[in-house]
Amino acid sequence: MELMRKLEILADAAKYDASCASSGAQRKDSRTGKGVGSTGGMGICHSYTPDGRCVSLLKVLLTNSCLYDCHYCINRRSSDVQRARFTPEEVVQLTLDFYKRNYIEGLFLSSGIVRNADHTMEQVIEVARQLREVHDFRGYIHLKTIPEASQALIDKAGTYADRISINIELPTQASLDQLAPEKNIANTKVAMNGIRARIDEVQDARKQARRIMGRPRAKPPTFATGQSTQMIVGADTSSDSVVLHRADELYRDHRLRRVYYGGFSPIPAPSVILPIKPPPLVREHRLYQADWLLRFYGFGVSELVPQSHPDLDLELDPKLSWALRNRALFPVDINRAPRDLLWRVPGLGTVNVERILSARRFSRLHLADLQRMRVSLKKVMPFIMTADHRPRVATLENDHLRLQFLPGPRQLEFDFNPKASATAADALMVRSGQL
Ligand code: SF4
Repeated sequence: MELMRKLEILADAAKYDASCASSGAQRKDSRTGKGVGSTGGMGICHSYTPDGRCVSLLKVLLTNSCLYDCHYCINRRSSDVQRARFTPEEVVQLTLDFYKRNYIEGLFLSSGIVRNADHTMEQVIEVARQLREVHDFRGYIHLKTIPEASQALIDKAGTYADRISINIELPTQASLDQLAPEKNIANTKVAMNGIRARIDEVQDARKQARRIMGRPRAKPPTFATGQSTQMIVGADTSSDSVVLHRADELYRDHRLRRVYYGGFSPIPAPSVILPIKPPPLVREHRLYQADWLLRFYGFGVSELVPQSHPDLDLELDPKLSWALRNRALFPVDINRAPRDLLWRVPGLGTVNVERILSARRFSRLHLADLQRMRVSLKKVMPFIMTADHRPRVATLENDHLRLQFLPGPRQLEFDFNPKASATAADALMVRSGQL
């Protein structure tokens, strides 16, 4: 098969993996005269490196043939799609060609499972090895690893990659049994634990190497700087509570850098046990917002999705929704409240909280001060007290408060790009201190 035809098939087959930001989604094309640039074609997508740079990646599968039969996957054994397979040398050549032409700065490589997990992993590693050792490639490499592969091979993948990931796919073993019968959460956790131990080991060795002064330093070992995973949302009946509890466990026990939430998207010729419709895109967005609150704002999962509300409110962001359920904690005094309470005020992000903490050391803050910090007064006023403002208790108790924040119908149907949200929106939110 011609190389370009293989690239078409294998880049298209890779687009369902959300652990890499924009997934080569089609956007405005400069050729149409509207906008500049295009993300479509050839599987070029964007991701963020550990130091925060946005890089373009060639996102492909080594092969879309697979021994497994995961119902939600277009590459499953029983799927009637055209199959293709790259040799490691072909992927190396494509990566180098695209890199030299400045199309990409790195590679995101995944694969269907052929022959067995170890054989597939060896092929994936061979691509990274040739790039690093034969061609001295310094670009970004993200490798998708297979939990059933031997630990030695996963370790080897980590020595060549900047980021490695293992997809957990679904939040419970019961869902996997139903939709991906060959997959096992216990195996995935063992593999994640192995990666975590190796990352810790290498980081310790690096610290120690830095501490040894005045002696020739041995070159510290290299290993990927982090691991991530993906969970598919909406293919099974798991609630947001189940999804977020699993994500929280992965962050705490396996120190994952990121959990990506991929809204299930119907595939051509789907399995009959799958839902016909995808979940609303806004569900994925709410999960990313909740994930952010768990990692950076000190929220617990059961605060965001208590037993009485196992699913996130699709109409309101999770922090606002939590605040409306906990009105007794408000209004919060901007001039006295501790940092962790300020973090919980809807409309205040971490950046603005730091500004407030440093400004209030010199004078009592008024609404105008918050406005100068570009805080949205409309959003925060019902929840805060300042030197010149105190909301009437009746405002907080008023049921109209929720109505006040409900988006218009158009906003709920917003043109949300789920793949881009994973990282690009996060980066924007960090910068602007939203949430
Ligand atoms: S193992 Fe991966 S590629 Fe194979 S069917 Fe399952 S999800 Fe698809």
